[in-house]
Amino acid sequence: MINVTDLRKSYGNHIALHGISFSIQQGEFYGLLGPNGAGKSTTIGIMSMLVSPDSGSVSINNNDIIQHPVECKQTIGVVPQEIALYNELSAIDNLLFWGGLYNVEKSLLKKRIDTTLHLFGLSDRANDKVKTYSGGMKRRINIAAALLHNPKVLFMDEPTVGIDPQSRNLIFEVVQKLHSEGMTIVYTTHYMEEAERFCDRIGIIDNGKIVAQGTLHELKSMGGNQEAVIISGNGITEATAAKMRAAGFIVSTGENQLTFLSHNLKSDLSRIVLMCSEHGIDINDISIRHVNLETVFLSLTGKQLRD
Ligand code: ADP
Repeated sequence: MINVTDLRKSYGNHIALHGISFSIQQGEFYGLLGPNGAGKSTTIGIMSMLVSPDSGSVSINNNDIIQHPVECKQTIGVVPQEIALYNELSAIDNLLFWGGLYNVEKSLLKKRIDTTLHLFGLSDRANDKVKTYSGGMKRRINIAAALLHNPKVLFMDEPTVGIDPQSRNLIFEVVQKLHSEGMTIVYTTHYMEEAERFCDRIGIIDNGKIVAQGTLHELKSMGGNQEAVIISGNGITEATAAKMRAAGFIVSTGENQLTFLSHNLKSDLSRIVLMCSEHGIDINDISIRHVNLETVFLSLTGKQLRD
């Protein structure tokens, strides 16, 4: 359904994408998971025809986005990270505007607007100006706007960042419903939980490269069934983490926290605790976590997903 081949993009001297390639099957829910700055928005922006690549290609439904932009635009719905709505207009008028851009016939458009507003729980606020909406409500309208021409593919760039839990849950419900009805969905996130919960396949992206790709099960087995030992305490510095790395551990630092990966907890745990006390760390909590996408990311990149 979608083929992305060797996408490269620089902003000035900064290389944002180092050659990104992946394919997405029809009806698949594909997640691009990576920390801030990894290149998710640039990748999905190119796929959505909002950003032009320096080189590489994207085809959607067998149409190249450069050679067949009109066909591609009809096939995709795009939810960019920036909310693009007219604050002085009502939700209905905003949706009439967006639907009009896709030449949806007026009576059909009105029907779709009704259905979509209902789907997003906004029917009773439909005539209110968007400026009176919460951030989460605006986000829901933004997604609704992307659906009015009935696209086969939906691109969503971090759609749940900074919104209230009620809107987030509603968005999850709608996206799952669309997926169950056969829509192909491409979804970027830095939330491991979202990728684990929804995606059929996940591409893990870091520093402008896909570092691993597969189903959740496949990715977890790439993590080598390691466990994470999370030490919380005082006296943790980047310098102590570096010494522990030199001793052969994969370690990342968070606020007053060190996360170690271990293939063999039985032998590693006492070594880890000993090393921490030797380096003057005053431990106040130790927890053990089974492998998840966070630990997979750590084992692949040596970093945490959320810095
Ligand atoms: P993500 O969506 O994973 O946070 P982005 O694709 O937004 O990552 O950014 C990738 C890299 O490119 C980052 O280092 C970011 O600072 C840089 N970048 C993104 N957009 C621009 C831009 N318009 N101008 C300059 N640098 C940019």
